[in-house]
This record gives sequence, structure tokens and C-alpha cells, in this order.
Amino acid sequence: MVKAIVGANWGDEGKGKITDMLAQDSDIVVRFQGGANAGHTIINDYGKFALHTLPSGVFNDNTVSIIGNGVALNIPVLFDEIKSIEDRGVPAPKILVSDRAQIVMPYHILFDQYEEERLGGKSFGSTKSGIAPFYSDKYAKIGFQVSELFDEEYLREKIANVCEQKNVLLEHLYHKPAIDEEELFQTLMEYKKMVEPYVCDVSTYLANAIKEGKDILLEGQLGTLKDPDHGIYPMVTSSSTLAAYGAIGAGIPPYEIKKVITVVKAYSSAVGAGVFVSEIFGEEADELRRRGGDGGEFGATTGRPRRMGWFDIPASKYGCRLQGATDVAFTVLDVLGYLDEIPVCVGYEIDGKVTTDFPTTRQLEKAKPVLEVLPGWKSDIRGITKYEDLPENCRKYIEFVEERLGYPITLISNGPGRNEIIYRGFEK
Ligand code: GDP
Repeated sequence: MVKAIVGANWGDEGKGKITDMLAQDSDIVVRFQGGANAGHTIINDYGKFALHTLPSGVFNDNTVSIIGNGVALNIPVLFDEIKSIEDRGVPAPKILVSDRAQIVMPYHILFDQYEEERLGGKSFGSTKSGIAPFYSDKYAKIGFQVSELFDEEYLREKIANVCEQKNVLLEHLYHKPAIDEEELFQTLMEYKKMVEPYVCDVSTYLANAIKEGKDILLEGQLGTLKDPDHGIYPMVTSSSTLAAYGAIGAGIPPYEIKKVITVVKAYSSAVGAGVFVSEIFGEEADELRRRGGDGGEFGATTGRPRRMGWFDIPASKYGCRLQGATDVAFTVLDVLGYLDEIPVCVGYEIDGKVTTDFPTTRQLEKAKPVLEVLPGWKSDIRGITKYEDLPENCRKYIEFVEERLGYPITLISNGPGRNEIIYRGFEK
């Protein structure tokens, strides 16, 4: 069976932990979009890891980890990451890289930096990993597929064509040094050596795996609200964050995705710029940030402090709907145990009208949060394994959120560790 694990919010919902946990019973984990721009934090028997490119299944000997065609593949980052986990005692993971995945080129990273510099204060808050220039080139049909590394003559010709265009921009728009074609070719030959042992026709591999009844997880990055079509455009990422894209970015039929486990965080956090209706500030935000996640809410890739907010019903309900949630994994609930009262954003007031629907960005910018306050449970819920053993106010919070979302909460995460999970009707 194929299951997708995706985010309903702005990312950082704890997808890595849920994937690592479910990967223990899975044969294959596939990354299907995004690149090294966001990270998952995983805590298990080997220690604490921040993964950017590797699928979160790499810690299980029995799991094959796949980089699908939809990923922005940064080859040196991938190889540093493999080495860094092996150096810490994790057995060499079984990795396959799609021959149709495209490569993040050194100039994509430079263009990302130069563009942020050019935009100054109006920047998009990019992580400068080259993701936007990468996807722009992919759809402008001047990207480089892994398979193309194996045809040197073709590669030289393509480099010459691409450099002609890139070097005009470098010289006249950014006033930066031009790309050296020979140097770029040599870099790509290095990349070829690194990637060669892993290259695979992934869609055929997955078609066979599906036929054999293997358990496959599709691991998403970021969340619905960062999707380029359905998110808070233009403050979004450059590839689709939706489960539906899992079919494309892995190369499988859409009807094979039987479960969409949508990860929803018990409060809100966001990195980068963009409208954030339930955002809180000052000491209230600092305290939640300090206590949040595992050791504070700071970006796994950039170390930037995350923006904090109360749970947002319209955003999360919309987030679940666009993912097509069959199951909600409600995460980081333990963090809220310090609060006497827990505000929840139950609607948006826009031009004097209250709605629970999530509007387009221009409307969203006018929205004011409508808050409802629920009583806190004032205790530490880590270590609890049965739903009935949770404090009554904690169960009330979960049931309130579930009812407003309209999707079943079947997993509750009450700590960062692999086993800190409460099953509530989740069918494996
Ligand atoms: P992802 O990108 O969706 O995988 O999310 P991140 O890994 O960036 O952020 C989630 C953070 O919360 C990480 O530091 C996790 O270790 C941590 N985390 C995940 N689930 C829980 C939980 O239930 N409780 C606590 N306290 N931390 C959690």
C-alpha cells in the first residue's frame, strides 16, 4: 500500500518524526518534491539528526530510500548527508536516485543569493538553496536531468547553450562573474561519479514494488500553505507540497495513494515572510518558541527563529482538505502543557464578516483572527500511551480541533521521540 505523509500548515509540523516512526514497518520511503531547503529533525536510537535531502527512512536497515524525479537534487549535499549519518554509526542506507530527477546546479544557488540581494527588503525570505532558480529552469526546459550526465557530448553542448543565457544575466543584471563552461562540465563529471551507483529507473522500480504489495511511504516537505497553487502565493515554495503531487514526483498512478496522513501541529509556526493571521508576538511568542518542538522552534536548515501563533482552524481545515486527509496526525501537543488557557483561532474576520474558509492571499492580508479560549491541562503528557489516560482538558482540546477540522485525528504525537505516539483508531 502507498501512504503519503504531508503537512497541513506552513511546514515543520513534525512530518520527519511521523515518517521515521512509520518507516519502521515500510519497505520504501520516497521523497517526491522540494530540495535541501527545508529540514526534518529526527530523534531515534542513533541520536538526533537534521535531514535535508535524505528520506526519513534512512535509519531502518530494511527500508529503501528513494529520491524521486520531483526532487531538486543537490548531489554534494546528498552525499555529505549520507556520509554524516554513516559517520555516526547508522548502517549504510540503501538509496536510489531517479534517473529523471533534475540537478541543482552551482549557479542556481548563486542566482538565489544574487536575487535576494537585488530585492533587498522585498525578498521572499529564501533559504538560498537554489530551489526557485532550479524549478524555474526545470519548467523553462533548461534544467539538467541525472540521465544527461551520462552523455558527455550532449552535456557540453547544453552547457554552452545555457551559459549563453545565464551569463547575460550575470553580467548585466547582477554584475557578477560569468560561469566558466569547462569548470561547470568538470563539476558535473564529479557529480556523475557521486551519483552513479544509485541511479535507477524509479517509476519502473515502484510499479514492481506496488505489484509485489510492498509498503511505500511518500514523504512531503513543507505544507499546504506553502504550495505554489494553493498556498499563500507568492510567499510559497517552488514545488507542490500536496499529496496529489506525490504521484507525479514519484512516478506512480494517483489511485495507488490509499492513505494521506496529514500532519497538523497543535499550535502554529512559520518561517520566512508572508501573512500569518494567528501570529503572536512578544513574551507570549518567545515562551512558546522556547518550549516548542524539541529544544525550541528554530529552522532546521537556517537556525532562524520561527514565527509563532495559536492553532489556526481555517488554515488547518483548508490544509487538510487540499491534502485529502484520510488521517490527521496531531503533533507537538505536549508543548502546550504549560498554558492555563489556550487560545484557538476559530475564524477570520474579513471586512466585518467572519468566515472559516481560507481565502486568497490579498483577502487573507485583511483577516483578523477570531479567538476562542479553551482551558489548559497544566501537566506534562509525555509518556502517556493511551488516549483515555490523557487529561480531560487535553482530550477536549483534541476533540474540539477534530470537530472543527472535520477530519479524524488518528495519531497524537506527545514528544519528539519515535515511540512518543498515541494511536487513536489509526489502521496501519
Ligand atoms: P518537519 O519538517 O515537518 O519534519 O518538522 P521539523 O522536524 O522541522 O519540526 C518538528 C520539530 O518538532 C522537530 O524538532 C521534532 O523533533 C519536534 N517534534 C516532532 N513531534 C513532536 C512532538 O510531538 N512533541 C515535541 N515536543 N516535539 C516534536
